[in-house]
Amino acid sequence: MSFQLPITPPDRVGGLVAGRASRGGGVEIPVYYPATGAQISTLIEDDADAVDHAVMAARHAFDTGPWPGMGLTKRVEALEACRDAILAHVDELARLECAATGLVLKELKARHMVRAAYNFRFFAEHISQSSGQVYTQTENYVTTVTRVPVGVAALIAPWNAPVALATMKIASALAFGNTCVLKPSEQTPLALARVVELLQEVLPEGVLNLVNGRGPVTGAALVAHKCVDLVSFTGGTETGRAIMSAAGQNLIPCTMELGGKSANIIFASADREQALDGALAGIFSNNGQQCLAGSRILVERSIFDDFTEAFAERARKVRVGDPLDDATELGPLASNAHMNRVLSFAGMAQEDGGRLLTGGTRRDDLGAGYFINPTAFIAQSNADRCAQSEIFGPFATFLPFDGVDEALHIANDTEFGLVSYVWSDHLPTVMRMNDGLRSGVVWVNTPMMRELRAPFGGFKSSGVGREGGAACEAFYTEEKTTSTPIRPANIRRFGV
Ligand code: NAD
Repeated sequence: MSFQLPITPPDRVGGLVAGRASRGGGVEIPVYYPATGAQISTLIEDDADAVDHAVMAARHAFDTGPWPGMGLTKRVEALEACRDAILAHVDELARLECAATGLVLKELKARHMVRAAYNFRFFAEHISQSSGQVYTQTENYVTTVTRVPVGVAALIAPWNAPVALATMKIASALAFGNTCVLKPSEQTPLALARVVELLQEVLPEGVLNLVNGRGPVTGAALVAHKCVDLVSFTGGTETGRAIMSAAGQNLIPCTMELGGKSANIIFASADREQALDGALAGIFSNNGQQCLAGSRILVERSIFDDFTEAFAERARKVRVGDPLDDATELGPLASNAHMNRVLSFAGMAQEDGGRLLTGGTRRDDLGAGYFINPTAFIAQSNADRCAQSEIFGPFATFLPFDGVDEALHIANDTEFGLVSYVWSDHLPTVMRMNDGLRSGVVWVNTPMMRELRAPFGGFKSSGVGREGGAACEAFYTEEKTTSTPIRPANIRRFGV
């Protein structure tokens, strides 16, 4: 079986600096279609010299260009033009994204690209309403606190939702007057290259630049560059550690949106059908590859057997297959290496004494693509590798619990702390859980509700800093305090 390509992508993809092709200079990296395993394009890597050229273009645009000091009306218009450019190309962008990620095309069109456009509208609205502070009470002085752009932002994105995640960074960095250099994942460069091309047409020269290549080469050169003023990173926890160390050498701020092993906690007092829908959506959305997945499903012991059986029955019916088919619920995993890693956890779960509920195998009947069966295990304990590691695939790990205290203990017994899901119609249970959970986000009786005005980010190894309206304003601006006397200041006189 071989699936059709969503689009014929360009033969070669490279970076874009101030409206022109970047200098490249590095190795060539194949880009594959995950549904067939066939090479569909070649990425030209940017080496350290090419990265330097891109950073200096952004530096020049920040130091001498119109963008940082642009009036509000014009900046809002520019952000709206970015939104319109994306909306006018939703089909093309979704197809390019599908070609490199294998995500289901229907979802890419309906959610990812619409969200990408909305990111620009959201920050256009945010800056239209934000204000500074004024202090007038002390000794005839007026003191103002204004927020000014920080400078050149390095934006580093992962492969699991490239356009949706990177546009949040681009829109927020630009809205507050910064200039940017974006580095997408080397696995999924296609749609973001086109996004940057489109946005460069409506933005002043050098404001948004793109470099491509592997993390330890292109990414490392970018975060270590002396003319970069801040780093916004989304990706794995180990990579986050390396990036924060490098940024620390230059004393520049970072936000880190990192991995998760989020607990999806289902009490007997929950609406069973809603909780079941939420458990399936929490682990199988986005081909199972999402930081906020509810991948550890904790179920109160009195309903454990019934719930896990119902979950497995539904999981077996999840439609796995062609990303271009609107009926598909689960497409291929993003790469061959990633598929093998996810499947290796099935072996580990069994070695650790876990019990297989369903899946754990490749879908060989779907050709050479990276398809696996939706997978669920009951872990022997929360110490099992399938309960502690971020698997980042359609792989649910179940554990039973008795009561609120044990639920909290298991939920918090992890290095991560991104999201927690709680399912219960008993208010005191919900309140106690919310109080005790060590995660940046808690979803009660719902999966995956993202309120862009509110902070999003993780405790512990799930991150540093937050993304969201006010959180992005704080990160992408420096505060400047200015004091001015209303009358001549009463200055202590020396040497009179
Ligand atoms: P990754 O850490 O391997 O790569 C992310 C990006 O960092 C890529 O662009 C990569 O090239 C780059 N990179 C790698 N090493 C680098 C280095 N030394 N210096 C600079 N850049 C470097 O992550 P991934 O595999 O692409 O994405 C999956 C991970 O992302 C998962 O752990 C997932 O949980 C996480 N994620 C987190 C969030 C969140 O909001 N918390 C959202 C999506 C994904």
